[in-house]
Amino acid sequence: MNWLTKSVLPKIKAFVNKDEIKENLWVKCNSCEQMIFSKDLYENLNICTTCNFHMPFYPKDRLKFLFDENSMELIDYSSENQDILNFKDIKKYSDRLKQSKLVTEQDDCIYLAKGKIKNFPVVVAAFDFRFMGGSMGRSVGNAFIKGVNVAVDQKCAFITIPSSGGARMQEGIISLMQMPRTIAALQIIEDAKLPHIVILSNPTTGGVTASFAMLGDIHIAEPGATIGFAGKRVIEKTVKEKLPENFQTAEYLLEHGMVDIVANRNEHRQVLSNILEITLSNT
Ligand SMILES: [Zn+2]
Repeated sequence: MNWLTKSVLPKIKAFVNKDEIKENLWVKCNSCEQMIFSKDLYENLNICTTCNFHMPFYPKDRLKFLFDENSMELIDYSSENQDILNFKDIKKYSDRLKQSKLVTEQDDCIYLAKGKIKNFPVVVAAFDFRFMGGSMGRSVGNAFIKGVNVAVDQKCAFITIPSSGGARMQEGIISLMQMPRTIAALQIIEDAKLPHIVILSNPTTGGVTASFAMLGDIHIAEPGATIGFAGKRVIEKTVKEKLPENFQTAEYLLEHGMVDIVANRNEHRQVLSNILEITLSNT
C-alpha cells in the first residue's frame, strides 16, 4: 500500500486540484451552456456574454458597480434576537442564521448602503438570496425602516432591489407583520415627496411582491426575472387553466403594465440616473 499512498495519491490529488482551478476560471452559463471566462463574466455583471442570461449577482458586487467610485457607505442595522420564537423545523432557525451569516458575511439578507449614482445621493436596500432565500423577517423590516429614515434625513431617493422567496416562515406571524411595516414606511417616503425606485431581480415572490416590491414609483426589472406572488403550478391547479409560457416573467409583467422598464443589469446605473434626474428636479 505504501507506493499507493506515497506515489499515486499525490498525483490524484494534484489532478483533482487542477480541475478545481479550471472550474473557478470558467463558468458555464445556466441557459446557453457556453463556457465563459469568470473574469469576463464578473466584469459583465454576471450577464452571459453570449445569450444575455442574467445569473445571480449578489448585493456587495452589484452595489460596487452601481455606485460612483468610493461613494458607498454601509448603513449598520440591528439584528439582535432574530429567533424570538426559538423555532425549529428539520433544522434550528438559529443554525440556519449562523450558516447564512457565514456565507454572506451579513447580519441578515438585506444589504443597506448609502452613496451616489452619477452624483445623485441615494439609499439602497438590496437583498441577498443566499441568506435564507432573501426572506423577510423582523430584522429585515428594521433595516428597511432604517433605510427609509436615512433617505428622508438626507432627502434622497430610496432604491430597493428585492430578490426574495417572501416572508420568513421561521418567524411565523412576525414575518407577516413586516409586510404592513414596510408599506407604512414607504408612506414616509411618499410624504417626503422622495422617489422609491424598485429593481426587481430574480426571483421576487411571495410576501415581498405582496408588499413593498410592487409599491415603487417606478419599477425596473431584470430580463427573465421571475416576479409573482404564488408559484405558477399552484395557480394553474387553483384556476384549472394552463398559463402562458412566459407567465410571471419580467417581460410578461411589462406587457401587462406591472413593470415600467426591463433593462439589462449593466444599464441600471444609467437608467437610474435618468430617473433620478427627472424625479428629483422638482424637489
Ligand atoms: Zn448564456
